[in-house]
Amino acid sequence: MVEQVGECESCGKAIYCDHGFLDGVYEQGHLFCSEACADSGNNISHV
Ligand SMILES: [Zn+2]
Repeated sequence: MVEQVGECESCGKAIYCDHGFLDGVYEQGHLFCSEACADSGNNISHV
């Protein structure tokens, strides 16, 4: 079972949870599609 759990806060890509495995990065209450997006999103939020 694959569920959409949200969208990347940096690039807007849909993020899914596949059998309990999150297809993305959940960091400090924010959801991102990848480590790279998590880094850029964090940089934006720190400004
Ligand atoms: Zn992204």
